Amino acid sequence: MTGKAFASDDLLLRLRSFHSDYFPLHQQRFQDLVAEGQHPKTLFIGCSDSRLVPYLLTGSGPGELFLVRNVGAFVPPYDGSHGLHGTTAAIEYAVLTLEVERIIVCGHTHCGAIKAAYDGVPDEAVNLQAWLRLAAEAILPVQSSPEARYRSEQRAVVLQLERLMDYPMVRRRVEGGNLTLHGWHYVIEQGEIHIFDAQRGDFVPASLAANSGTGPYQPYVEHDGQVLDE
Ligand SMILES: [Zn+2]
Repeated sequence: MTGKAFASDDLLLRLRSFHSDYFPLHQQRFQDLVAEGQHPKTLFIGCSDSRLVPYLLTGSGPGELFLVRNVGAFVPPYDGSHGLHGTTAAIEYAVLTLEVERIIVCGHTHCGAIKAAYDGVPDEAVNLQAWLRLAAEAILPVQSSPEARYRSEQRAVVLQLERLMDYPMVRRRVEGGNLTLHGWHYVIEQGEIHIFDAQRGDFVPASLAANSGTGPYQPYVEHDGQVLDE
């Protein structure tokens, strides 16, 4: 390639900058993570949207978040079909092998997936069309509007938490008190996560919330009102 084309390869410059500027400052951390392996405590299931930056939001660094991202931050049903499903495989790996302590499902405002669920997708996007059915129950029987989509984004998060509870390895750990579920709606324009509060049945801004979310089933309360401890 000519020098000119080379100079305009901004991505290559960023790769070099990572290696020469960032890596030397954090070298020990990366080497520890190689020597000891990764032990992230969090599985973060987030929308693929480029404006959602999990590391920034949670103040996390290397080794802290096991990430799964897909269009809409959806969780496929645990239907026993053993399909080629990346998100399902990642959940199994995170829970059974990494033994994460929390699962975050993070949607966000102005989500293209929710908008597409209302407004449709190009005919050629047959896989996307099928995928968006995972949000069908979150879609309101009204015209597409910013308000309807905002509500549906939040409903979709709760729907995925409920679907997670159908994963046997998730349910077992949540009920055993070893795993918590966190439903988040990232309000991009406010720079704030709104957290699903199961008791209130509503989303509460992080600045007002009592916790980062414990999911609808944690702590697990037995029918006699006893809270199970580990
Ligand atoms: Zn999105």
